[in-house]
Amino acid sequence: MQITGEMLIGGSAVRGTKGTLRAFDPARNAEIEPAFGAGGSAEVERACGFAAAAFDPYRLAPLETRARFIEAIADNIMALGDALIERAQAESALPKARLEGERGRTVGQLKLFASLAREGRWLTATLDSPLPDRKPLPRSDLRMQKIAVGPVAVFGASNFPLAFSVAGGDTASALAAGCPVVVKAHPAHLGTSELVGRAIQKAVQDAGLPEGVFSLLIGAGNEIGEALVAHPAIKSVGFTGSRRGGLALVDIASRRREPIPVFAEMSSVNPFFVLPGALAKRAESIANGFVESVTLGVGQFCTNPGLVLVLDSPQTKTFIDAAAQALAKKGAQTMLTPGIAAAYKDGIARRGDVNGVQAVAQGAQTDAACSALPALFATNATQFLAEAALEDEIFGPSSLIVTCADVGEMIKVTEYLEGQLTATLQVEPEDHELARQLLPTLERKAGRILANGFPTGVEVSYAMVHGGPFPATSDPRATSVGATAIDRFLRPVCYQDLPAALLPEAVQDDNPLKLWRLRDGKLAQS
Ligand code: NAP
Repeated sequence: MQITGEMLIGGSAVRGTKGTLRAFDPARNAEIEPAFGAGGSAEVERACGFAAAAFDPYRLAPLETRARFIEAIADNIMALGDALIERAQAESALPKARLEGERGRTVGQLKLFASLAREGRWLTATLDSPLPDRKPLPRSDLRMQKIAVGPVAVFGASNFPLAFSVAGGDTASALAAGCPVVVKAHPAHLGTSELVGRAIQKAVQDAGLPEGVFSLLIGAGNEIGEALVAHPAIKSVGFTGSRRGGLALVDIASRRREPIPVFAEMSSVNPFFVLPGALAKRAESIANGFVESVTLGVGQFCTNPGLVLVLDSPQTKTFIDAAAQALAKKGAQTMLTPGIAAAYKDGIARRGDVNGVQAVAQGAQTDAACSALPALFATNATQFLAEAALEDEIFGPSSLIVTCADVGEMIKVTEYLEGQLTATLQVEPEDHELARQLLPTLERKAGRILANGFPTGVEVSYAMVHGGPFPATSDPRATSVGATAIDRFLRPVCYQDLPAALLPEAVQDDNPLKLWRLRDGKLAQS
């Protein structure tokens, strides 16, 4: 399939006239053809108008139609073949194997949401029988189901050109909920976005769905994204990126005449606790695994372990030395964009300048363009607690080891931490008492708590949570990965005393959708 540089607005391909953008190959340090035409408010208006018109017909279409449509997106993405992987590789400098894995995850995620759409448990169908003889007042017939919130704006992430982008988790979960989607393409992977966008556009057409179920916008600068979030037809936003970008969108969404939710996944340092028993038994192997996790994918994962907490003991030095040695062997590698590489370089320089912070290791220089040199820093808990900037995320292959004088200080640092996507405990049975002390705080701070693993790598499954309190996300009640991501784009509606002929299928007496429903407080498939 040829990349034309056009936006996809409903069923049409539209060339923007508000300037020109080109994708950039960070490994070659060169722009990539073709030129993309940037859109503006007219295209936002058109895409959002189509999405609003598509909303009711799409959400009211049979669930089987919705499920097959989402499965067709997955098939169409696979049918793009190597061209998709090659383009994504050129635009991101991510290795082929990683991108193939990411494509598998994207397709698997779409299939999971297709199966959810079909199964309908997310409808949360609930029926409370009327109590006509109840005294002093009778109770009405009450029935509840969840419905889609409306058109959703999706901002793809730079670091996952497939799995968190045009057909990523936000889009898959919104479509499964019954919401049309308008995607703002990430400027770092314009060609990948167009290819995947065309795969979705074709699936919309083949399914005979209204054209406004999907649109893809491209813009130069923030204006198009701002206009999209401000548009009255948009009822919710999914975003993955920087704290600054996410908060800018939250601000726009909250100042609208009708404020709307923004589900922004932003920044996390993912504290990694090495408890004393684990440190005594496994200092070197933990250090090696930790360095692999920090440097994986040039550190460009939102779950990168950017902060290590360890108690002061004779083995602490063994751990730090082993981590330093492992990290020194890692070479500088190309980052996703020149902007991200510059932000990393700046972050590293500033961290090295903080009083009381030691640069304990750096990776090996290479001739890679647009690169990040791995860097490891260390400090103590007193210094960490005194310098707020030490908790800031440095997006890239870097981490900070904080040594705590005693258990009390480790608990104090844990309590001080901001919200996180993950918290990891390296534990042995003799550490369980300390782990029990930390867990209530970690539950308050993080969306996912791991033991004896590494936080990079997020499974797409029913129990996964990829969320957490601010600044990890803008809404701690939600996850952007896993089956419950669909809940972000649903809201409950109660039907009181509606005649049977007017009730939606999900709450009709004879249960035509064969759903598991809560009937008078009991779960039953009736
Ligand atoms: P970003 O600058 O936040 O951009 C993400 C998306 O939001 C882009 O499409 C961007 O498009 C748009 N955007 C940003 N600010 C906006 C605003 N004020 N108004 C409207 N739209 C806005 O993130 P990025 O370019 O992917 O990476 C930059 C930094 O984000 C990284 O260095 C890293 O710190 C962080 N990051 C974090 C994660 C994570 O998972 N936590 C993932 C990726 C990146 P336009 O620029 O075209 O408007």
